[in-house]
Amino acid sequence: METKYIFVTGGVSSSLGKGIIAASLGKLLQSRGFRVTIQKLDPYINVDPGTLNPYEHGECYVTVDGHEADLDLGHYERFLNIETHKTNNITTGRIYQNVIEKERRGDYLGKTVQIIPHITDEIKEHITSLGKTGQFDFVITEIGGTVGDIESLPFIESMRQLRWEMGRNCCCIHLTYVPYLAAAKELKTKPTQHSVKDLQQEGVQPDIIVLRTEHEIPTEMRRKVALFCNVDEDAVIQSIDASTIYRVPLNMLEEGLDRVVLRKTGLDVSSVPEADLASWNAFLKKLEGAQEEVKIALVGKYVQLQDAYKSIREALSHAAAYNNRKLNLTSILSDDINAENVQQLADFQGIVIAPGFGNRGVEGKLQAIRFARENKIPCFGICMGMQCMAIEFARDVLGYADANSTEFDEHTTHNIIDLMEAQKRTINKGGSMRLGAYPCQLKEGSRVRKIYACEKIQERHRHRYELNHSYQQEMKEHGLICSGINPDSGLTEIIELQDHPWFIGTQFHPEYSSTVLHPHPLFLSFMQTLVTKK
Ligand code: GLN
Repeated sequence: METKYIFVTGGVSSSLGKGIIAASLGKLLQSRGFRVTIQKLDPYINVDPGTLNPYEHGECYVTVDGHEADLDLGHYERFLNIETHKTNNITTGRIYQNVIEKERRGDYLGKTVQIIPHITDEIKEHITSLGKTGQFDFVITEIGGTVGDIESLPFIESMRQLRWEMGRNCCCIHLTYVPYLAAAKELKTKPTQHSVKDLQQEGVQPDIIVLRTEHEIPTEMRRKVALFCNVDEDAVIQSIDASTIYRVPLNMLEEGLDRVVLRKTGLDVSSVPEADLASWNAFLKKLEGAQEEVKIALVGKYVQLQDAYKSIREALSHAAAYNNRKLNLTSILSDDINAENVQQLADFQGIVIAPGFGNRGVEGKLQAIRFARENKIPCFGICMGMQCMAIEFARDVLGYADANSTEFDEHTTHNIIDLMEAQKRTINKGGSMRLGAYPCQLKEGSRVRKIYACEKIQERHRHRYELNHSYQQEMKEHGLICSGINPDSGLTEIIELQDHPWFIGTQFHPEYSSTVLHPHPLFLSFMQTLVTKK
């Protein structure tokens, strides 16, 4: 079958959950047997989100091929159980960078380089590149931002052109918001009508309108939206607030989103298998059915914004569901933790030490780790979390009071965490990190070897600093072992403390690869320890 392209745009407001709608549709099409991928177009000028502050944009997600990506790619992977790559995410910045590079190379042969056609051609080329691989029946493209913004215009124009060129192989879903005026007890469709008008003004007639709402939308109102916005009645779909994002695919199934998409793209719905969501439903049942709570503290420095540690939250919630527990996750600002108040952590069954950059909040993380180590509270250190575990151990157990990472103290005499030689030579902040999947050999007899139940794994990285090897032997003699090693570089990827219920630090980010159908073994094991520990 020829590849079909589905576009998801948004109107009225940002943060309506375009990513979740795209991922839910992808899930439904996939469960009908189609090969699906999803890509995100981001209208900002940053070449990638790697240099964005998590407070502004939420977590930076990392693909296996080492691309620093928008966090929506995390949803795509978690929902579809697929791997995404660099090609699944592009920003305005990268599009311009490519075009300017081509211009410098002389590729445009003396032409004036313009937004139309050069920028739009570059965007179209990027959108269709996934389909051209022949690996996908459906390519879903989520366009970031809100229709009507200056920034997203070239993306919308590219979509307009592609629809014109592809005809029925293309379909546009527009997601809007229907506010509820409490005083008048009324839902309002006017913002939707205006937003559809904006889209039409840019030359695009949506095929499907998804209405995000906090209340049921009556049939009459759907009819009105259909009439005013030129869409079929069954193509007006409500997306009501759900108790969990993982319920949205089922809500969309009930609303018939996938059926309308099949019809709009010229497929005969009756000849396509029904969606098989058996394992998805089994997960959801556990997630929604769990009564007993598991209380976990997430110690990090970006705690005000939920999205800043999105993948960790999701990985923990997968693991909790599979252990029949309801996740009760409390974010604790590491800056606020000190020797006097660290006792507050005794209220939690487990502690996760978050990744991070820069020295703000590091001393608080060290306090939390010491408390977990000494009081035998299960503790999971991720990336900088692992580095802090090593620093704390070097200070308190090995007795090197000034042990540190050179990221926080360049002149420490005990550089337990340091830059590798190659990294010392690079100065470019956006591009000097160890990024993407690297192999890791698990030591025979180690705890992690048992947890993963295999010898060699691949996990995703995003960091500059590494554990300094010269301390490995001494750490081992005192019970902290390097149990995962990169077979090519010899770098330490995992540390684990013996004689502790669960004290494991990973230099990589296991949270990126936990999906609904394949929860991550380390998170599962951590959770299992919490729920079985007395
Ligand atoms: N700042 C640390 C490093 O660059 C850890 C990074 C992280 O936690 N992702 O090595």
